[in-house]
Amino acid sequence: MSHQANPFETAQRQLDQAAELLGLSPGMREFLRVPMREHQFSIPLQMDSGEYQVFTGYRVQYNLARGPGKGGIRFHPEETVDTVRALAAWMTWKTSVVDIPLGGGKGGVTCDPKNMSLSELERLSRAYMRAVAHLIGPDRDIPAPDVYTTPQIMAWMMDEYEMITGKHQPGIITGKPVSLFGSLGRHDATARGGVYVVREAAKAMGMNLQDKTAAIQGYGNAGSHAHRLGGDLLGLRVVAVSDSRGGVYSEHGIDPEAVADHKAKTGSVVGLPGTDTITNEELLELPVTVLFPSALENVITESNAPRMQAQVVAELANGPTTPEADDILFDKGVTLLPDFLCNAGGVTVSYLEQVQNASNHYWPLEQVYQNLDATMSRAYHAVHKLASERQIHHRLAAYLVAVARVAEAVTVRGWVK
Ligand code: GLU
Repeated sequence: MSHQANPFETAQRQLDQAAELLGLSPGMREFLRVPMREHQFSIPLQMDSGEYQVFTGYRVQYNLARGPGKGGIRFHPEETVDTVRALAAWMTWKTSVVDIPLGGGKGGVTCDPKNMSLSELERLSRAYMRAVAHLIGPDRDIPAPDVYTTPQIMAWMMDEYEMITGKHQPGIITGKPVSLFGSLGRHDATARGGVYVVREAAKAMGMNLQDKTAAIQGYGNAGSHAHRLGGDLLGLRVVAVSDSRGGVYSEHGIDPEAVADHKAKTGSVVGLPGTDTITNEELLELPVTVLFPSALENVITESNAPRMQAQVVAELANGPTTPEADDILFDKGVTLLPDFLCNAGGVTVSYLEQVQNASNHYWPLEQVYQNLDATMSRAYHAVHKLASERQIHHRLAAYLVAVARVAEAVTVRGWVK
């Protein structure tokens, strides 16, 4: 897989294109191209062996014009300040395109959680919170889960923050376990929101998805739930799934429960009985109706986009597609539902979690689903309308909607005209 494109440069190039079409002033362009604040810190940690290791942590508050910073914390060996900047920029456009009253932020630690014990992870999570506690708050910046961070990690971080401040403040972080002030429906909200967007896109295209094929690249929180919900809500037959170790294919369709059992036993989807082994690269090029890239950045590039055969690409990952690949897919007539629209279900339910925390009143699941569905459907149709009117791809249309809202807030505040 290619990891060559710098994701922050990609984010800036995408913004530049939108800024040009919106006719933003040079000052506004300069302001929106860079984070408002960024923090980098060392986290010394005693490992189970007794030795000390020093980890690098980040929190980037990209833009705060439309509300407090919002965005996950990623624990990943390849985390760099530029991935965090890019992800924080995309959070800014994400909260804006779904029109929730939040800005954009992101955090991370360069570490390999797969090779850490549970107690090492707990100490790292608490140490991360101690490092950022004075920078964040329910009305300043609210973290959440991202790649390799879990509800349990959110619980440790919330607890550490409450210990530091001496107050009950569950709204400091979202994606918490339901037993500790999390929202019902948050665990599969990213995939559910994406599936609602695919449903609306299929309606707009007059496409019936019943028993049509799908492939899912990545089997974390987004991909695994997309497998189940793609079948349950859209009638899709998922013929291929993958994770970081490789993929599996069966033309008859793959059962999500069988994958969950196999992955729990072996640590991977690879080797699932009754399937053929394929690579992640092969999965991305399968002739399926819907492809869900659900892992990391830069997997769809100018080198594989010409060979791709999916009709709809629903991006549950952040940043899977480079700008060159966007143009190639658009020219081929592929409908690409861009990341910061398609995967905004997670942050949408994070926002609903915050609303529940702030009012200290908790909603039934149906209310969460209804709100999520209305939010995602409204955002999709606004983007789709603009894409059709201007004959541009959905990513550029989503940028036009999102950047215009942020620029308006920046102007009205009087920061930049
Ligand atoms: N990490 C998720 C994302 O990239 C969720 C962020 C949140 O809930 O704040 O959208």
